[in-house]
Amino acid sequence: MTSTAYAVINLDALQHNLQIVRQYAPNAKIMPVIKANAYGHGMLRVATNLLSSDAFAVARTEEGVLLRKAGITNKITVLGGFNCINELEAILTYQLDTVVHSFTQLNMLEARTELNAFSIWLKLDTGMNRLGFKPIEFTAAYQRLKYCPFIKGPINIMTHFANADDKHDTTTLKQISLFNNTVATFLDEQLLDSERSECSIANSAGILGWPESITDWVRPGIMLYGISPFPDHTGEYWQLKPVMGLYSRLIAVKVIEKGEKVGYSGAWTCTKPTLLGIIGIGYGDGYPRYAKEGTPILVNGLRVPLIGRVSMDMITVDLESQPVAKPGDSVTLWGDSLAIEEIAIYADTIPYTLVCGITQRVQFIEYTKSLTQHEI
Ligand SMILES: *Cc1c(COP(=O)(O)O)cnc(C)c1O
Repeated sequence: MTSTAYAVINLDALQHNLQIVRQYAPNAKIMPVIKANAYGHGMLRVATNLLSSDAFAVARTEEGVLLRKAGITNKITVLGGFNCINELEAILTYQLDTVVHSFTQLNMLEARTELNAFSIWLKLDTGMNRLGFKPIEFTAAYQRLKYCPFIKGPINIMTHFANADDKHDTTTLKQISLFNNTVATFLDEQLLDSERSECSIANSAGILGWPESITDWVRPGIMLYGISPFPDHTGEYWQLKPVMGLYSRLIAVKVIEKGEKVGYSGAWTCTKPTLLGIIGIGYGDGYPRYAKEGTPILVNGLRVPLIGRVSMDMITVDLESQPVAKPGDSVTLWGDSLAIEEIAIYADTIPYTLVCGITQRVQFIEYTKSLTQHEI
């Protein structure tokens, strides 16, 4: 039995999307980004299904610790790095690779006395103005790290895009050349293979849209989950397949008369007798509270419009096009036949927030063609 609202995670689609990353970046090492519970898909589930990856990336130290405790032995990069001694200790204990992005972190590293080797990514800020050293600070940071005796292997170098999902914004090309120019001097000085820095620039938008950004390592996030990083396309355009489908069921069907109002605040008023469907999903499950009237929903595979406000446990739809719909019938909120990118537009948001927002109440079902569907 499933609870009313459930998410199906298509593990074949996940593998397929990894292949698409490989097609775009055939010579790069791949670091799937599985932060924020793998964008709501289940961090351990995604990690254990992508064990062939060269590394994983998470945002926070705790996420890396969780993966290690679950037995994941791949390299793990903590994109946000450590922010206090406890996090630094955890990074050492659990052999995580950390991003170093600030002088505060450098001071903490230099204050260490015991030699417990670990690998790092030095982050250059090429214009995002979030984490990272400015180009003018970069040489100093690099030199100081070189003198930290417990850094294992070469000092790898990374940056992050601010607006790569806009193909018309030349900021991205400026970020790439700033990165290349800044690291060029260091790369030139590295004569031994063992000290050669590896570089990483591209997120999903970089991989799909900016081939100049594909270097030693790529960091795909959203595209692995089958979602387009570019707002003017769906994943299908890039041959990606959605990994998450969100489903529920009709829990009631009723006729309401002209002039009657539906839901909280009576936000929707009936202009003619209407067959109303009530569906067991709401913002308590992660369905977006701000989905507008008219947001498409599939009932028995056919599109019907959302009406009235989204409440915590329920939403309402106009079943005019589906007069025989009945309680128990299946409902798709997004998935294979209804692109999450389209729902995001109706909800004035981006697909990232929709997948990340799925709550604990939603039951997860893993699907692969080889195994029959099983509930977990
Ligand atoms: C989240 C994140 C990514 C992945 O971004 P997508 O747009 O999901 O591909 C890559 N790099 C860094 C530093 C990130 O924070």
